[in-house]
Amino acid sequence: NDYTAGGTDSSSIKVFIRGRPTPETSECYKVTGQGKIQISDPSGERGDHVFGYEKVFWDASSQDDIYRYCCEPHVEHVLSGFNSCVFAYGQTGSGKTYSMFGEAGENRGLIPRVVESIVSAVTSRTSSGSEVAMVVSFLEIYCDQIRDLGNAYLNSDQTITAAGDHAGPLPTNTAKTSEIFERMQLERQSSFSRPRAASRALSVQSGDLGDDMSGSFSASQRAAESDYRSMHYEIHEDNDKNVFVKDLALIPVTTAEEVMAVINMGLQLRATHETKINDVSSRSHTVFTITIIQKDRVTGASLKGLLNLVDLAGSERIKKSESSGQRLKEALHINTSLTALGKVVLALDPSSNLSHIPYRDSKLTRLLQNSLGGNSYTTLLATIHPTTEYAEESLSTLMFANRCR
Ligand code: ADP
Ligand code: MG
Repeated sequence: NDYTAGGTDSSSIKVFIRGRPTPETSECYKVTGQGKIQISDPSGERGDHVFGYEKVFWDASSQDDIYRYCCEPHVEHVLSGFNSCVFAYGQTGSGKTYSMFGEAGENRGLIPRVVESIVSAVTSRTSSGSEVAMVVSFLEIYCDQIRDLGNAYLNSDQTITAAGDHAGPLPTNTAKTSEIFERMQLERQSSFSRPRAASRALSVQSGDLGDDMSGSFSASQRAAESDYRSMHYEIHEDNDKNVFVKDLALIPVTTAEEVMAVINMGLQLRATHETKINDVSSRSHTVFTITIIQKDRVTGASLKGLLNLVDLAGSERIKKSESSGQRLKEALHINTSLTALGKVVLALDPSSNLSHIPYRDSKLTRLLQNSLGGNSYTTLLATIHPTTEYAEESLSTLMFANRCR
């Protein structure tokens, strides 16, 4: 396929580096040419290292540059019925979330850009004789437990029409979408049959739903927050060996605005929770998944592809201050899952000759099993904060990224 063609390596994973802008870019880092970066260890102990990648983006790179190189090839792949995965890896503060989600307008990140191109492709396909359903889900893995971030959206302003039927913010094509789900035997994952979401929405509807200007939580926000804390989700496998998260909200969407609403509510939920314990966002992985199901109106042939966009937990080493308690527990879980990810990527390299791919070593890798290896495209965007202070962390990020190639 095009994705691997032209590269010097045989691996199906493409690795990119992004150095975030910083007031004083250190002398330790030199971008020496197309895809090459040199880093010298400030302590002098480990000397100079030169690494080569698909491409190195330095401080002047735009969100659009990152999108075109790291994500654009995935969109066509997913629309052709394959799976795909994009990771952001790096220490806290290096720009993972900025790259993935970004800010408003020109600085919007990879996820909104992917959504926009998928929506426009879907719109043109729908008019050219295919039925197309787009569903998204949004979750977080914190200390190896899955939490639903999409739930917040489903629980937000639902109106219930009939026995658990969901006719919320996806008005006109709901029936069509559910029909496709039925045919695709996806009902078990679908929000349409989620009694919990339905009863929640009903209770919210009869309760004090409404915009809350006072700064305290509305009923729906409280409900979502309590679900977020208390509900735990398990990974299952269907008859076709596809992994899925049981009972996770699977949200049918038709426009980029809806998708952004799902994301913003999920991120807000997480941020609210964060202030109560600690910086969850750097201690957890988020996985945003877009699934596209297409069905030819004439032949009935169907096609399903999904794209996982993953904002990984901070890769920094365990600090002395974190040598006990919850912080240590978090750090150990992060370490285990990032190590598992590295091992899976290594095992997927055709030259590794390993027949066993250790997907089951962590929830993260298990969850992403269907989008790593096989016909999947995988992109790793490793982010670094190019100051002298972080040279050690940057070096270990560059080494991880180098092993993944
Ligand atoms: P991480 O998710 O890796 O912990 P963030 O994405 O939150 O890091 O970035 C930390 C800070 O740096 C944020 O304020 C973010 O806006 C800023 N930042 C990161 N990368 C860039 C970039 N490429 N351009 C502009 N600002 C950036
Ligand atoms: Mg972040």
